[in-house]
Amino acid sequence: MGENDNTKGTEEICYICRRTESKAGKMIHIPNNICICQDCMQKTFDTMNQGGFPYMDLTGGMPNMFSFMGNSASQEKVKQKKEKKAKKKKKQQPMIDINHMPMPHIIKAHLDEYVIGQERAKKAISVAVYNHYKRVSMQSEDDEVIIEKSNMLMLGPTGSGKTYLVKTLAELLHVPLAITDATSLTEAGYIGDDVESVLSKLLMAADNDVERAEHGIIFIDEIDKIAKKHNAHSRDVSGESVQQGLLKLLEGADVEVPVGATSKNAMVPMQTVNTSNILFICGGAFSELGDVIKARLNKRSSIGFYGDLKDKYDKDYDILSKATAEDLREFGMIPEFLGRLPMIFSLKELDKEMLIRVLKEPKNAIIKQYQKLLSYDAVDLQFSEDALELIAEKAQEKKTGARALRALLEDFMLDIMYEIPKDENIGRVVITKEYIEGKGTPLIEMRTSTHTQALLPS
Ligand code: ADP
Repeated sequence: MGENDNTKGTEEICYICRRTESKAGKMIHIPNNICICQDCMQKTFDTMNQGGFPYMDLTGGMPNMFSFMGNSASQEKVKQKKEKKAKKKKKQQPMIDINHMPMPHIIKAHLDEYVIGQERAKKAISVAVYNHYKRVSMQSEDDEVIIEKSNMLMLGPTGSGKTYLVKTLAELLHVPLAITDATSLTEAGYIGDDVESVLSKLLMAADNDVERAEHGIIFIDEIDKIAKKHNAHSRDVSGESVQQGLLKLLEGADVEVPVGATSKNAMVPMQTVNTSNILFICGGAFSELGDVIKARLNKRSSIGFYGDLKDKYDKDYDILSKATAEDLREFGMIPEFLGRLPMIFSLKELDKEMLIRVLKEPKNAIIKQYQKLLSYDAVDLQFSEDALELIAEKAQEKKTGARALRALLEDFMLDIMYEIPKDENIGRVVITKEYIEGKGTPLIEMRTSTHTQALLPS
């Protein structure tokens, strides 16, 4: 036993199977003082010939040992890794370079690939962004004509694509984006976040790079919730005061911002961020604004001069597009606040046709995502037109716009995504109206025949 151990101490040991030379036979030497027995070497070559490297991968770092042999498989792997890295780098390149802004119609064409309908909103946002970044890159301090900021106010029902539009834009421009809810903001000193917290979020989104943050976008959602209370008896700390607090940010100011936290305290380091070149976009559903607009329009028509019917606007689903700054003031937005949001535009409630298009047309449409997932199992997923119509109708009933689509589809697709991969013979699945109604099953086509059969429980 002891003798054996002694021999083991001086003997060479195979790097892979850990057997000694006396047991495994003569060792093969490779660089870095590594020995491998002939069995392991043979196994390694066998694995390589089969096109894989699992045997070596288990040992971690082993492929490098064979690089001296000019191993094509490992070289291929390295090459693939490099290509992946290059691709990733390429992906991070912005679609639209903010230093060489393309014309507004080109910006809109990019948005068209993702956002369905909302033509006016896409046009307005493209022009505003074009002007904003032109101003940022071209304006010099001694210019006589000072171009003002083109901050925006978006009005539109929930699920009409306000946030999605801004997110898509920030991705295309590859600028940092911070999304905040106006309802979380309060006047400094009260419970809630100070208005400066929106800048901390932006700084975080820019990985604490102040310069990048200063060219970013801040989206403040639910801005209608900070409207001035009409009959407030106490101090309006989460309404009018927040609007007042936001004024200096919207206009452009140097603001001390806590880094890595949303509130100031003695332990948190501070950074100065200038907001002059930050694009502010405010959005809100403004559901009660419709009544203010209708009241104004109905008053005008009741004078008789325009000869309109009194209830002409009652069923106008696009009433928000008729909003004026005066209506918004009446609603409770303070004039100074509105003055700093020169671009006001609205988004429409999505109708059935638009919802169907949202399901299938955008570059990353929900249906395309499911199709891709099933394509990994070599299954072709299709939806019949009447099934899509029914999904859109069901989404409309929920009154949350396109937001309802994903939840509905997740529900209908759960069984499909669970059952289909079980059977390798399934080649095609067609989601039918009957399946969505809960009265039937999807159509399943097997790979080997064109015969269709119902396999799934309804
Ligand atoms: P909101 O107007 O309430 O901010 P969102 O932008 O959050 O609504 O919309 C919710 C989701 O619905 C988005 O993530 C997007 O997938 C989808 N969506 C909404 N509107 C559109 C649209 N016009 N085109 C494509 N997808 C949309």
